[in-house]
Amino acid sequence: MPQPLVIANWKMNPQTLTEAKQIFVGIKNAAKKHPSVSVVLAPPAIYLTELMKSAGGAVSLAAQNTHSEPLGSFTGEISPTMISALGAKYIIVGHSERRMIGESNGDVAKKIMATLKARLTPIVCIGESARDSQGNFFTFIETQVETAFEIVPRTRFKDIVIAYEPIWAIGTGATATVEDVKEMQLFILKILTKHFGRTAAEQVTIIYGGSVKPDNAAKLYEAGGMSGFLVGGASLKVTDFATIIVATAN
Ligand code: PEP
Repeated sequence: MPQPLVIANWKMNPQTLTEAKQIFVGIKNAAKKHPSVSVVLAPPAIYLTELMKSAGGAVSLAAQNTHSEPLGSFTGEISPTMISALGAKYIIVGHSERRMIGESNGDVAKKIMATLKARLTPIVCIGESARDSQGNFFTFIETQVETAFEIVPRTRFKDIVIAYEPIWAIGTGATATVEDVKEMQLFILKILTKHFGRTAAEQVTIIYGGSVKPDNAAKLYEAGGMSGFLVGGASLKVTDFATIIVATAN
């Protein structure tokens, strides 16, 4: 079993650095009690420098997005090089909330490569907006996975996390069932194997995200077959997030 990975995505919250520090301390204390779990926190980029001062050890930091170029005239953007220089270890790439504002599969592929070049781990978000009875959403997921990975050397697959996040489950309270999650874990492994070979496929870490809460985390983790969670809403409440960490600890 790979080490469980639990990632907090704070999105555009909280509103002040003071609050961010308070939640961070709570998460760090919870993470310290469960060294078997790899805990990662993705705060708004503006808090990274300050939180980095007490990160490391129990909690690693992530950026929520990056530009695909290392430097240049891109007003408002930040580069993987900058994120790496701060000491963060991960970057969320292709979150559905970014795809919704125009990020394409091609953009996501470039960001994955840029993240790997900066020696950081991309957390690549994929997921369908709705499910249909014909199973067309499987084709949609296959295209997302194939385009994300086709330019990545197979030797780097071990450095990539896929977060399967069905859009219909993000922030809605409508979690995928354990059966849905297990089926998708097997499907992602199958398509990675089909396109890139079993050895490379088995190196990729696959986690689930979408309304993971204290009351569903243990069941999803035990039977869903995924290596951990990407958590939005519940990651802003220390006790909720701590319970989710516990659910994956062995
Ligand atoms: C997310 O934003 O990646 C997410 C999974 O959010 P939530 O847990 O709130 O559904």
